[in-house]
Amino acid sequence: MKILVTGAAGFVASHLTDRLLAEGHSVIAMDNLITGNYENLRKHVGDVNFEFVHHNVSNHIHIPGHLDWVMHFASPASPIDYLQLSIETMKVNSLGTHNTLGLAMAKNAKYFLASTSEVYGDPEVHPQKEDYWGNVNPIGPRGVYDESKRFAEALTMAYHHKHNLDNRIIRIFNCYGPRLRFNDGRVVSNFIAQALRDEPLTVYGDGSQTRSFQYVTDLIEGIVRLMAVDFHEPVNLGNPQERTVFELARLIKELTGSKSEIVMKELPVDDPKRRLPNISRAKELLDWTPKKDLIQGLEETIAWYREVLKIPAVASK
Ligand code: UDP
Repeated sequence: MKILVTGAAGFVASHLTDRLLAEGHSVIAMDNLITGNYENLRKHVGDVNFEFVHHNVSNHIHIPGHLDWVMHFASPASPIDYLQLSIETMKVNSLGTHNTLGLAMAKNAKYFLASTSEVYGDPEVHPQKEDYWGNVNPIGPRGVYDESKRFAEALTMAYHHKHNLDNRIIRIFNCYGPRLRFNDGRVVSNFIAQALRDEPLTVYGDGSQTRSFQYVTDLIEGIVRLMAVDFHEPVNLGNPQERTVFELARLIKELTGSKSEIVMKELPVDDPKRRLPNISRAKELLDWTPKKDLIQGLEETIAWYREVLKIPAVASK
Protein backbone atom coordinates (compact mmCIF):
# COMPACT_ATOMS: atom_id res chain seq x y z
CA MET A 1 0.00 0.00 0.00
CA LYS A 2 1.02 3.63 -0.41
CA ILE A 3 0.82 5.44 2.90
CA LEU A 4 1.29 9.07 3.90
CA VAL A 5 2.56 9.39 7.48
CA THR A 6 2.53 12.90 8.91
CA GLY A 7 4.92 13.67 11.74
CA ALA A 8 7.03 10.78 10.46
CA ALA A 9 10.30 12.13 11.88
CA GLY A 10 8.83 12.11 15.38
CA PHE A 11 9.16 9.47 18.05
CA VAL A 12 6.05 7.34 17.44
CA ALA A 13 5.60 7.89 13.70
CA SER A 14 9.25 7.10 12.89
CA HIS A 15 8.81 3.69 14.53
CA LEU A 16 5.55 3.33 12.57
CA THR A 17 7.39 4.22 9.35
CA ASP A 18 10.00 1.51 10.09
CA ARG A 19 7.26 -1.07 10.57
CA LEU A 20 5.27 -0.10 7.46
CA LEU A 21 8.40 -0.20 5.29
CA ALA A 22 9.39 -3.55 6.82
CA GLU A 23 5.99 -4.90 5.80
CA GLY A 24 6.64 -3.87 2.20
CA HIS A 25 4.51 -0.73 2.00
CA SER A 26 5.55 2.57 0.40
CA VAL A 27 5.75 5.48 2.81
CA ILE A 28 5.66 9.20 2.14
CA ALA A 29 7.09 10.58 5.35
CA MET A 30 6.01 14.17 5.95
CA ASP A 31 7.36 16.41 8.70
CA ASN A 32 8.24 20.06 9.23
CA LEU A 33 10.90 19.01 11.76
CA ILE A 34 9.89 21.48 14.48
CA THR A 35 9.87 18.69 17.04
CA GLY A 36 10.70 15.75 14.76
CA ASN A 37 14.25 14.63 14.08
CA TYR A 38 15.36 13.72 10.57
CA GLU A 39 17.95 11.33 12.04
CA ASN A 40 15.06 9.04 12.97
CA LEU A 41 14.46 8.46 9.25
CA ARG A 42 17.93 8.72 7.77
CA LYS A 43 18.43 4.99 7.46
CA HIS A 44 15.58 4.82 4.91
CA VAL A 45 17.12 7.32 2.50
CA GLY A 46 17.73 5.50 -0.78
CA ASP A 47 14.92 2.97 -0.20
CA VAL A 48 12.70 3.16 -3.31
CA ASN A 49 9.64 2.74 -1.07
CA PHE A 50 10.55 5.77 1.03
CA GLU A 51 10.19 9.45 0.32
CA PHE A 52 10.66 12.33 2.74
CA VAL A 53 8.66 15.52 2.23
CA HIS A 54 9.52 18.54 4.35
CA HIS A 55 6.16 20.20 4.83
CA ASN A 56 3.95 21.73 7.51
CA VAL A 57 0.59 19.93 7.28
CA SER A 58 -1.21 22.96 8.72
CA ASN A 59 -0.79 24.32 5.17
CA HIS A 60 -2.42 22.79 2.08
CA ILE A 61 -0.96 19.38 1.22
CA HIS A 62 -0.30 18.36 -2.35
CA ILE A 63 0.58 14.72 -3.05
CA PRO A 64 0.51 13.51 -6.64
CA GLY A 65 -0.96 10.08 -7.40
CA HIS A 66 -2.72 7.42 -5.43
CA LEU A 67 -2.75 6.93 -1.61
CA ASP A 68 -4.22 4.01 0.34
CA TRP A 69 -3.86 5.55 3.79
CA VAL A 70 -3.37 8.98 5.31
CA MET A 71 -2.00 8.55 8.84
CA HIS A 72 -2.00 11.80 10.80
CA PHE A 73 0.58 11.66 13.58
CA ALA A 74 2.00 15.18 13.35
CA SER A 75 1.77 17.27 16.53
CA PRO A 76 3.98 18.41 19.36
CA ALA A 77 3.20 15.86 22.08
CA SER A 78 5.32 16.70 25.10
CA PRO A 79 3.84 19.17 27.60
CA ILE A 80 6.84 21.52 27.40
CA ASP A 81 6.63 21.49 23.58
CA TYR A 82 2.95 22.22 23.34
CA LEU A 83 3.20 24.93 25.99
CA GLN A 84 5.90 26.64 23.94
CA LEU A 85 4.38 25.81 20.54
CA SER A 86 0.81 26.51 21.63
CA ILE A 87 -0.50 27.99 18.38
CA GLU A 88 1.38 25.48 16.18
CA THR A 89 -0.14 22.67 18.27
CA MET A 90 -3.66 24.01 17.83
CA LYS A 91 -3.07 24.53 14.12
CA VAL A 92 -1.70 21.07 13.37
CA ASN A 93 -4.57 19.39 15.19
CA SER A 94 -7.25 21.59 13.61
CA LEU A 95 -6.03 22.87 10.22
CA GLY A 96 -3.64 19.92 9.86
CA THR A 97 -6.43 17.47 10.60
CA HIS A 98 -8.72 19.29 8.17
CA ASN A 99 -6.07 19.21 5.43
CA THR A 100 -5.22 15.54 5.95
CA LEU A 101 -8.92 14.60 6.04
CA GLY A 102 -9.49 16.52 2.79
CA LEU A 103 -6.53 14.73 1.24
CA ALA A 104 -7.87 11.33 2.33
CA MET A 105 -11.25 12.16 0.77
CA ALA A 106 -9.63 13.35 -2.48
CA LYS A 107 -7.57 10.16 -2.72
CA ASN A 108 -10.37 7.86 -1.54
CA ALA A 109 -7.89 6.75 1.12
CA LYS A 110 -8.45 5.44 4.62
CA TYR A 111 -7.64 7.80 7.47
CA PHE A 112 -5.85 7.15 10.75
CA LEU A 113 -5.81 9.76 13.52
CA ALA A 114 -3.32 9.64 16.38
CA SER A 115 -5.21 11.10 19.32
CA THR A 116 -4.26 11.02 22.97
CA SER A 117 -5.23 10.05 26.49
CA GLU A 118 -5.11 13.82 27.12
CA VAL A 119 -8.64 14.01 25.71
CA TYR A 120 -9.62 12.70 29.18
CA GLY A 121 -7.84 15.70 30.78
CA ASP A 122 -7.48 15.25 34.55
CA PRO A 123 -9.85 12.28 34.67
CA GLU A 124 -12.41 11.75 37.41
CA VAL A 125 -13.08 8.16 36.31
CA HIS A 126 -10.56 5.32 36.64
CA PRO A 127 -9.54 3.50 34.59
CA GLN A 128 -10.44 5.58 31.53
CA LYS A 129 -12.74 3.88 29.04
CA GLU A 130 -13.39 5.26 25.57
CA ASP A 131 -16.95 6.29 26.52
CA TYR A 132 -15.68 8.63 29.25
CA TRP A 133 -15.95 12.25 28.05
CA GLY A 134 -13.12 13.60 30.13
CA ASN A 135 -12.39 16.53 32.40
CA VAL A 136 -10.52 19.17 30.44
CA ASN A 137 -9.79 22.79 31.30
CA PRO A 138 -10.23 24.46 27.91
CA ILE A 139 -8.29 27.60 28.83
CA GLY A 140 -5.60 26.02 30.99
CA PRO A 141 -2.07 25.65 29.62
CA ARG A 142 -2.68 22.05 28.47
CA GLY A 143 -5.93 23.08 26.75
CA VAL A 144 -4.07 23.81 23.50
CA TYR A 145 -3.25 20.12 23.15
CA ASP A 146 -6.26 18.54 24.83
CA GLU A 147 -8.90 20.65 23.10
CA SER A 148 -7.28 20.53 19.67
CA LYS A 149 -7.03 16.73 19.85
CA ARG A 150 -10.68 16.60 20.94
CA PHE A 151 -11.51 18.81 17.95
CA ALA A 152 -9.47 16.48 15.69
CA GLU A 153 -11.49 13.50 16.90
CA ALA A 154 -14.77 15.39 16.43
CA LEU A 155 -13.82 16.48 12.90
CA THR A 156 -12.74 12.96 11.95
CA MET A 157 -16.05 11.52 13.17
CA ALA A 158 -17.93 14.26 11.28
CA TYR A 159 -16.16 13.20 8.06
CA HIS A 160 -17.02 9.61 8.87
CA HIS A 161 -20.72 10.33 9.35
CA LYS A 162 -21.10 12.93 6.61
CA HIS A 163 -18.76 11.53 3.94
CA ASN A 164 -18.46 7.87 4.90
CA LEU A 165 -14.75 8.32 5.57
CA ASP A 166 -13.16 5.00 6.52
CA ASN A 167 -11.26 6.12 9.61
CA ARG A 168 -9.50 4.85 12.72
CA ILE A 169 -8.79 6.84 15.90
CA ILE A 170 -6.38 5.84 18.64
CA ARG A 171 -5.91 7.45 22.04
CA ILE A 172 -2.27 6.98 22.88
CA PHE A 173 -1.36 6.74 26.58
CA ASN A 174 2.16 7.58 27.82
CA CYS A 175 4.65 5.93 25.52
CA TYR A 176 8.43 5.59 25.82
CA GLY A 177 11.34 3.93 24.10
CA PRO A 178 14.36 4.71 21.95
CA ARG A 179 14.13 8.02 20.03
CA LEU A 180 12.15 9.81 22.72
CA ARG A 181 14.17 13.05 22.61
CA PHE A 182 16.38 13.27 25.68
CA ASN A 183 15.50 16.95 26.10
CA ASP A 184 11.82 16.71 25.26
CA GLY A 185 10.75 17.19 28.87
CA ARG A 186 8.69 14.05 29.35
CA VAL A 187 9.14 12.10 32.49
CA VAL A 188 10.93 9.01 31.13
CA SER A 189 13.36 11.00 29.01
CA ASN A 190 14.01 13.53 31.80
CA PHE A 191 14.68 10.89 34.45
CA ILE A 192 16.95 8.76 32.24
CA ALA A 193 18.99 11.74 30.99
CA GLN A 194 19.26 13.12 34.55
CA ALA A 195 20.21 9.74 36.01
CA LEU A 196 22.87 9.05 33.39
CA ARG A 197 24.45 12.45 34.04
CA ASP A 198 24.19 12.02 37.83
CA GLU A 199 22.01 15.13 37.96
CA PRO A 200 19.03 15.34 40.35
CA LEU A 201 15.90 13.52 39.18
CA THR A 202 13.16 16.16 39.13
CA VAL A 203 9.92 14.75 40.52
CA TYR A 204 7.09 17.26 40.06
CA GLY A 205 4.73 17.63 43.02
CA ASP A 206 5.02 14.84 45.59
CA GLY A 207 5.37 12.19 42.87
CA SER A 208 2.13 10.45 43.86
CA GLN A 209 0.51 11.19 40.48
CA THR A 210 0.27 8.10 38.30
CA ARG A 211 0.83 7.18 34.69
CA SER A 212 1.04 3.90 32.83
CA PHE A 213 3.97 3.51 30.47
CA GLN A 214 3.78 1.58 27.23
CA TYR A 215 6.79 0.64 25.16
CA VAL A 216 6.73 2.02 21.65
CA THR A 217 6.76 -1.35 19.84
CA ASP A 218 3.61 -2.39 21.72
CA LEU A 219 1.90 0.77 20.51
CA ILE A 220 3.01 0.15 16.91
CA GLU A 221 1.63 -3.39 17.06
CA GLY A 222 -1.75 -2.01 18.18
CA ILE A 223 -1.73 0.55 15.35
CA VAL A 224 -0.99 -2.05 12.69
CA ARG A 225 -3.68 -4.37 14.03
CA LEU A 226 -6.25 -1.56 14.05
CA MET A 227 -5.51 -0.76 10.40
CA ALA A 228 -6.82 -4.24 9.55
CA VAL A 229 -10.08 -3.89 11.50
CA ASP A 230 -13.24 -2.08 10.42
CA PHE A 231 -13.84 0.14 13.47
CA HIS A 232 -14.28 3.90 13.48
CA GLU A 233 -14.59 5.06 17.07
CA PRO A 234 -11.59 5.77 19.34
CA VAL A 235 -9.53 2.92 20.75
CA ASN A 236 -7.29 3.33 23.82
CA LEU A 237 -3.76 2.02 23.36
CA GLY A 238 -1.84 2.00 26.61
CA ASN A 239 -0.33 -0.18 29.26
CA PRO A 240 -2.77 -0.94 32.10
CA GLN A 241 -0.03 -1.08 34.77
CA GLU A 242 -0.30 2.05 36.87
CA ARG A 243 2.86 3.52 38.44
CA THR A 244 3.49 6.60 40.51
CA VAL A 245 6.00 9.09 39.17
CA PHE A 246 8.06 8.63 42.34
CA GLU A 247 8.17 4.87 41.76
CA LEU A 248 9.40 5.50 38.23
CA ALA A 249 12.16 7.82 39.51
CA ARG A 250 13.36 5.17 41.96
CA LEU A 251 13.26 2.47 39.30
CA ILE A 252 15.26 4.50 36.77
CA LYS A 253 17.80 5.46 39.45
CA GLU A 254 18.24 1.78 40.25
CA LEU A 255 18.43 0.59 36.64
CA THR A 256 21.04 3.20 35.71
CA GLY A 257 23.02 2.70 38.92
CA SER A 258 22.96 6.49 39.24
CA LYS A 259 24.20 8.54 42.19
CA SER A 260 21.51 11.14 41.51
CA GLU A 261 19.30 12.35 44.32
CA ILE A 262 15.57 12.69 43.81
CA VAL A 263 14.33 16.28 44.23
CA MET A 264 10.80 17.65 44.32
CA LYS A 265 9.79 20.49 42.00
CA GLU A 266 6.55 22.38 41.60
CA LEU A 267 3.70 20.41 40.00
CA PRO A 268 2.75 21.90 36.60
CA VAL A 269 -0.72 23.48 36.34
CA ASP A 270 -3.51 20.98 35.53
CA ASP A 271 -1.13 18.01 35.69
CA PRO A 272 -3.43 14.95 35.68
CA LYS A 273 -3.39 13.16 39.07
CA ARG A 274 -4.13 9.69 37.75
CA ARG A 275 -4.09 8.17 34.30
CA LEU A 276 -4.83 4.55 33.56
CA PRO A 277 -6.31 3.06 30.41
CA ASN A 278 -9.10 0.54 30.22
CA ILE A 279 -7.97 -1.47 27.20
CA SER A 280 -10.85 -3.93 26.95
CA ARG A 281 -11.87 -2.49 23.57
CA ALA A 282 -8.38 -3.05 22.11
CA LYS A 283 -8.26 -6.52 23.65
CA GLU A 284 -11.56 -7.57 22.11
CA LEU A 285 -11.15 -5.85 18.77
CA LEU A 286 -7.46 -6.46 18.14
CA ASP A 287 -6.53 -9.26 20.52
CA TRP A 288 -3.92 -6.78 21.72
CA THR A 289 -2.24 -6.33 25.08
CA PRO A 290 1.11 -4.67 25.74
CA LYS A 291 3.85 -7.28 25.98
CA LYS A 292 6.96 -5.41 27.06
CA ASP A 293 7.80 -5.52 30.74
CA LEU A 294 8.57 -2.05 32.16
CA ILE A 295 12.01 -2.99 33.46
CA GLN A 296 13.06 -4.54 30.17
CA GLY A 297 11.66 -1.60 28.20
CA LEU A 298 13.45 0.89 30.42
CA GLU A 299 16.71 -1.06 30.13
CA GLU A 300 16.50 -0.93 26.35
CA THR A 301 15.67 2.76 26.43
CA ILE A 302 18.53 3.46 28.84
CA ALA A 303 20.93 1.59 26.53
CA TRP A 304 19.82 3.80 23.64
CA TYR A 305 20.28 6.98 25.72
CA ARG A 306 23.76 5.87 26.75
CA GLU A 307 24.65 5.60 23.09
CA VAL A 308 23.13 8.94 22.13
CA LEU A 309 24.54 10.80 25.15
CA LYS A 310 27.82 8.88 24.84
CA ILE A 311 27.76 7.65 28.43
CA PRO A 312 29.35 4.21 28.76
CA ALA A 313 27.54 1.61 30.87
CA VAL A 314 30.38 1.31 33.41
CA ALA A 315 30.63 5.05 34.14
CA SER A 316 27.86 5.33 36.69
CA LYS A 317 28.15 1.92 38.34
N1 UDP B 1 7.13 14.70 35.57
C1 UDP B 1 8.03 14.75 36.63
N2 UDP B 1 9.31 15.13 36.37
C2 UDP B 1 9.75 15.45 35.12
C3 UDP B 1 8.85 15.39 34.05
C4 UDP B 1 7.54 15.03 34.31
O1 UDP B 1 7.68 14.45 37.80
O2 UDP B 1 10.94 15.78 35.00
C5 UDP B 1 5.75 14.26 35.86
C6 UDP B 1 4.68 15.18 35.29
O3 UDP B 1 4.39 16.21 36.22
C7 UDP B 1 3.54 14.20 35.12
C8 UDP B 1 4.22 12.89 34.77
O4 UDP B 1 5.56 13.03 35.21
O5 UDP B 1 2.83 14.04 36.32
C9 UDP B 1 4.21 12.57 33.29
O6 UDP B 1 4.67 13.71 32.60
P1 UDP B 1 4.98 13.74 31.05
O7 UDP B 1 5.47 15.11 30.73
O8 UDP B 1 5.85 12.61 30.69
O9 UDP B 1 3.60 13.46 30.32
P2 UDP B 1 2.04 13.70 30.67
O10 UDP B 1 1.58 12.36 31.10
O11 UDP B 1 1.90 14.69 31.78
O12 UDP B 1 1.47 14.17 29.41
